[in-house]
Amino acid sequence: MERENAWKKYSLEEEKKVFAFGEEYRKFISKCKTERECVDEIVKLAKAAGFADMEQVIASGRKLKAGDRVYAVNKGKGMALFIIGRENMEQGMHILGAHIDSPRLDLKQNPLYEDTGMAMLDTHYYGGVKKYQWVTLPLAMHGVVAKKDGSTVQINIGEKPEDPVFGVSDLLIHLSGEQMEKKAAKVIEGEAMDVLIASRPLKDADEKTKEKVKANVLDILKAHYGIEEEDFLSAEIEIVPAGAARNYGLDNSMIMGYGHDDRVCAYPSFAAMLDVEIPEKTSVCLLVDKEEIGSVGATGMQSRFFENITAEVMEACGTYSELALRRALENSDALSSDVSAAYDPNYPSVMEKKNAAYFGRGVVFNKYTGARGKSGSNDASAEYMAKIRSIMDENHVNFQTAELGKVDQGGGGTIAYILGNYNMQVIDSGVAVLNMHAPWEIISKADLYEAKCCYEAFLKQ
Ligand code: MN
Ligand code: MN
Repeated sequence: MERENAWKKYSLEEEKKVFAFGEEYRKFISKCKTERECVDEIVKLAKAAGFADMEQVIASGRKLKAGDRVYAVNKGKGMALFIIGRENMEQGMHILGAHIDSPRLDLKQNPLYEDTGMAMLDTHYYGGVKKYQWVTLPLAMHGVVAKKDGSTVQINIGEKPEDPVFGVSDLLIHLSGEQMEKKAAKVIEGEAMDVLIASRPLKDADEKTKEKVKANVLDILKAHYGIEEEDFLSAEIEIVPAGAARNYGLDNSMIMGYGHDDRVCAYPSFAAMLDVEIPEKTSVCLLVDKEEIGSVGATGMQSRFFENITAEVMEACGTYSELALRRALENSDALSSDVSAAYDPNYPSVMEKKNAAYFGRGVVFNKYTGARGKSGSNDASAEYMAKIRSIMDENHVNFQTAELGKVDQGGGGTIAYILGNYNMQVIDSGVAVLNMHAPWEIISKADLYEAKCCYEAFLKQ
């Protein structure tokens, strides 16, 4: 049952669309490297496409009708978009879910110190990373500093060609005898991932100032951003790979970039919403934070945000009751989209070839994920999988099915089981990624395009 390579079916006309959408996405991930940046950009695009802020809808008491487009932001780090359908929401919604947080290095709350004339920032990594992959790379600093007066300072350093970059150092090979004997998990330790940010002492520092390089950093921060050392206490600054995503391969068929996991599902999910006019069932795109650390907290999938905002939307439609809300959730169909592991010819031993995801063979469906006997998995029902594959075939969407590697090789989780808690139909789907969780991940443009086609077909069914 080998699946067809999607590139083979494209006409010249369609191939142009594949590359155009790839370029649109490449620009998006080059610009949006944090969950906050993703939300800000998607709000901007959504507004331009006629989506109204639910906060304003609620405040004005405006009633929603079929075809209305609304969005809600959750604390700047997650969001939900709705296009009201002709049917009562109680009959269920069509939900596209994906996450917009990605593995990275976060600054600690008290990060800045000086050691031997070098100013360093202490970090704590976020999500599952192979720490040794994050050294000796140009890194950028993105995030926010919230000040006591209620204002927020945006930080974005390292992306413009004229910007400086930062980085984590590694030991020279000449002195690495001991290090090279260590296990990969220990080669670079979490506490050895401090970022070097400066080496020049403050000019005219008085005699009492001991740490003159650190003093100079604080001087620069004060002058350019108006922030003090204490302001780091209420900051969220993420250290991420610096620079734009790039076309990859001699044939330009792939994209190498930071944070494909899971923006390669989030972006086409949002893009598919833009092509919906008046759907039968209400269309929803849900973009959440904190998936990489277990979907916890107010902005993760386990939060009540989605349930609450669905209640608000139903109220604005004049159809809310506690029971109607529960029915709306239970009667919904969802695609929980997250990345799959792409088959890697360099590492064939971890894959079971009949049930692996391959570049170019289209959007991936994982009936189940999980590890050690499907543990932690939302195992989609056979009936729902049948419905999904019929929608894909009817709309000529290339799809493949896969597991994350061989049985007993490892595994991973997604947000699917949390949506499943509402007793709705949900299946894991998404795009295959090579180098998953590395600073620079790779995807196929055909798979990205097929994902968008899949989401459109799902919303329009
Ligand atoms: Mn991940
Ligand atoms: Mn993911």
